Amino acid sequence: MLEITKESIEKATAKARIAKPLVKVIEFRRYSVTNRETGATYEVRFTKVGNHKFGECSCPATKICYHISSCLPINAVLASQMIQTA
Ligand SMILES: [Zn+2]
Repeated sequence: MLEITKESIEKATAKARIAKPLVKVIEFRRYSVTNRETGATYEVRFTKVGNHKFGECSCPATKICYHISSCLPINAVLASQMIQTA
């Protein structure tokens, strides 16, 4: 699990904008991310502990990767919808 902060996500977000991977929702906080060029698919999961957000990805990266950053906007939308419907 890697903590998601403004600093830790910065580089990954820049890479995600270029790579534009395909993100599919498996369930809330669980996503499948596919690299459009190589077809490689990884699974991303998010967890929230207090005010800290954590992410993990099944790819070999040891830092916050662009797979994680690619899912964040979708996760934020789903989270806001869940609050409204709860
Ligand atoms: Zn990854």
